[in-house]
Amino acid sequence: MFVGHYSAALAAKAAEPRAPLWSYVIGAQLLDVGWATFIMTGLEKAAVDESLPGSPLILYRMPYTHSLPAAVAWSVLGGVVAKYALKLPRRAAVAMGLVVFSHWIGDLIAHRPDLKLWWHGPEVGLGLWNFPVAEEAVEIGLLAVAGIFWTAWRVRNGRRAWPAAVFMTFLVAGQIFALTAPEGGGKIQMGLVTLAAYVAAAVVAWLVERGPVDAGERLPAT
Ligand SMILES: [Zn+2]
Repeated sequence: MFVGHYSAALAAKAAEPRAPLWSYVIGAQLLDVGWATFIMTGLEKAAVDESLPGSPLILYRMPYTHSLPAAVAWSVLGGVVAKYALKLPRRAAVAMGLVVFSHWIGDLIAHRPDLKLWWHGPEVGLGLWNFPVAEEAVEIGLLAVAGIFWTAWRVRNGRRAWPAAVFMTFLVAGQIFALTAPEGGGKIQMGLVTLAAYVAAAVVAWLVERGPVDAGERLPAT
């Protein structure tokens, strides 16, 4: 799952707008930010089988980012960083923790069983990747529903709708790129491309929230 994860960020922004959008956007992929880093260092491992439907990834070792206890720990970390580093109100920090954890739920739906329930526990995953058309429909559908709520929230608060459309177009373009680009190229390339995609999404989110600000827009840019 890629863009589907961002539906949690957009929904959170509409429900608890005191956290900047870029932080929710990073939070929604925080587990994968850790995964991309750990893949490069060899702490977690993956293989590629292009014959697999949906994603060609075989994620056979990722206890530190995608096991259930790790996901809970990263979610707590996200909330703590939001509260003490970003100095956000408690409710926004809780929203951040939920956004971070939503990544595991999204992966639970999409992944083949590769998410450990506990350290040496069974691996779970509903395997929607095995049905690529349905998986894409779920991802884009989640993004569309959350995007509509978020855009409506923006408009209600005097912000323009079109930057929201630009952000969602960027995300869907990223999904199409991820679908068509060949996987692999080594663990360093895989990690760097993943990190670059998540940083790019956060930068675009920052730009979308920052402007354009004109006299008709009541909210300060955050
Ligand atoms: Zn993931």
